[in-house]
Amino acid sequence: MAPRITDSSSDIQINTTVDRHVHTKLCHHASGEMEDYVLAAIRQGLEGLIFLEHMEEGISGNEKTWLTEEDFDSYFSEGKRLQEKYKSQLTIGLGVECGYNPDRRQTLISRLDSRDWDEIGISCHFIKSANEYINLFSRKEDNLKRAKESGSEQLLDAYFDTLHEAVATLPGTKLCHLDGALRFLPEIYLTDSHLKKIDQVLLAVKRRGLTLEINTSGLVIRGEQFPSRAILQMAISHRIPLVVGSDAHKPEQVGRHFDRINKLVEGL
Ligand SMILES: [Zn+2]
Ligand SMILES: [Zn+2]
Repeated sequence: MAPRITDSSSDIQINTTVDRHVHTKLCHHASGEMEDYVLAAIRQGLEGLIFLEHMEEGISGNEKTWLTEEDFDSYFSEGKRLQEKYKSQLTIGLGVECGYNPDRRQTLISRLDSRDWDEIGISCHFIKSANEYINLFSRKEDNLKRAKESGSEQLLDAYFDTLHEAVATLPGTKLCHLDGALRFLPEIYLTDSHLKKIDQVLLAVKRRGLTLEINTSGLVIRGEQFPSRAILQMAISHRIPLVVGSDAHKPEQVGRHFDRINKLVEGL
């Protein structure tokens, strides 16, 4: 077996001048026009901003937290107008956060293939349990109650397996908030079996040439970025490139806590 090569942390540079994950009010659970996010990025002194709006397919029985194709048409036309208007101040990317649903894989792939995205983030927000979809990223009481009833450990098993399939089959460029699922359940923890699954996901990320996102919303939600230090160390040992995103759902969250990222990585 070849020796495992581990980067020393000093080799790793993370570009914190670009926020690669922000939303807009088009997804119905964020506020602010696209232009408000652009202006916030400029105020922060960022050089680049990538919108990464929600795409989901076939998620029944849930509040709509994603864009329709018509919404994406408006998103592209407004995004292109902003790219032109602010081109001397900020590089603006138009991307998508594709939530995976294995039952709708082909439709998702066709939708992804039909547009020219600057970034395709892969995530999985909903897991089907007993024929209903549970939102693993919601802090709402009824979602948390249903997650507990379905068994959080089993839901996480399904979540990591589903992400693995998503990374292996979707035309993605980055994996988003890897260990963010069920973070609003205070008693949640990752078992050895979950960590093995995470390692398999990371190997797929490496094989497919994706980057791994450090998502600073975790600092607000649980006091540590997504993913945790331990998982970042695993990613570094696989030589997976790391990128950063705020997952802003309000303009004032653009670039949040980016000043902590290089210090974090130095300490890994
Ligand atoms: Zn969202
Ligand atoms: Zn997001």
